[in-house]
Amino acid sequence: MGFDQSKCIFSECKGECLTRCPYISYDEGKAKEAIQTLIAGETAPILSECITCAACNDFCPLGANPWDLISWRQEQTGILGIPEDAKPSSDWLTKPDLVIPGKEGGPLISMGGIFEVVPQTEFLTGKMFADATLIGGGKIACGFTETHLGRASRPLTFLPEFIANLTKEAEKYGVTEIIFTHDACYNVATTIAMREHIDVPFRPIHILEYIRNWLRDNPEQITPLNLKVAVQGGCTTRYAPTGGDHEIWSDWLADIFDLIGVESVEEKRTYTGDDRLCCGSAIFHKQHERAMDIQHKNIQDAILAGAEQYVFICPACISIMRATCRKMKLDPVYITQLVRQALGEDLGKAGSAGFGYPVK
Ligand code: SF4
Ligand code: SF4
Repeated sequence: MGFDQSKCIFSECKGECLTRCPYISYDEGKAKEAIQTLIAGETAPILSECITCAACNDFCPLGANPWDLISWRQEQTGILGIPEDAKPSSDWLTKPDLVIPGKEGGPLISMGGIFEVVPQTEFLTGKMFADATLIGGGKIACGFTETHLGRASRPLTFLPEFIANLTKEAEKYGVTEIIFTHDACYNVATTIAMREHIDVPFRPIHILEYIRNWLRDNPEQITPLNLKVAVQGGCTTRYAPTGGDHEIWSDWLADIFDLIGVESVEEKRTYTGDDRLCCGSAIFHKQHERAMDIQHKNIQDAILAGAEQYVFICPACISIMRATCRKMKLDPVYITQLVRQALGEDLGKAGSAGFGYPVK
């Protein structure tokens, strides 16, 4: 990651980075002109039109990572209009510590800095998490969410401290692995740390990998759900380590679906794979109508493909889309709650997606 100007060769691409962006209407000439303008250090309308979904990194056929160029310029220009000291509740790095102790020797799960946007402490209950210790707080939040606030450098400047703080937590609880509930922290501890040559002394585990492995170890606990579902892949999933030609998390998710008798309708969708739509969280307050249009288009696409539930991997995506899902009569469900249904567990007062639950 990081914009690589040597790979941005206009004669070898069709400006796919911006012609494929689903939130603007650029032709090839306009796309290349915009990128050229940013490379030259000038501003361009794309800086304020961009909703910070990171998809253009996937769209560029040459691997130049144009989103990293756009987000860097957004920060330099302050064009998103978000002040440096934006609301403390949006500053994931100042969150106080939270610890829900588990059993000694049990798994250690990091909720990063967004443990309250969905009631994660309630979503991480039941058989799969019976022995787990849950930790959260600013010192172990990767800060990737700051990219939506025009502070793209934050996860990078905080990276050494982030890894050092997590290493201390691993030592404190006597574990060699840390499980992450949010793709952002997982991807910063894997993809970004590797790129930045930061040594990670513990093994980062994605929540999907953890769930898949638990189900494989406990097949007798599963009653197949026989459900058709659509999947919301978050922006940070685009930073996931890849296996072959695809992001590794999609393999774990496919394994989970097989194990619990769930069929994905993603192959029937328009907005899927690299073309999946953003939840709209970055523009939810400042450009609300635009965010709602994106959500409607996205959810309608899932309904047309035959989905009976909409499965979310990212806690932030479900918090921002669940009300619209409910209005459009497509049940939103966080991945742990989907699986807990197959384990015959009572989902508690958070229900399948925390509706009516007092989210702070
Ligand atoms: S970022 Fe990629 S797609 Fe966009 S102009 Fe450069 S090479 Fe072409
Ligand atoms: S990050 Fe998303 S919204 Fe912004 S230009 Fe790239 S594809 Fe478009």
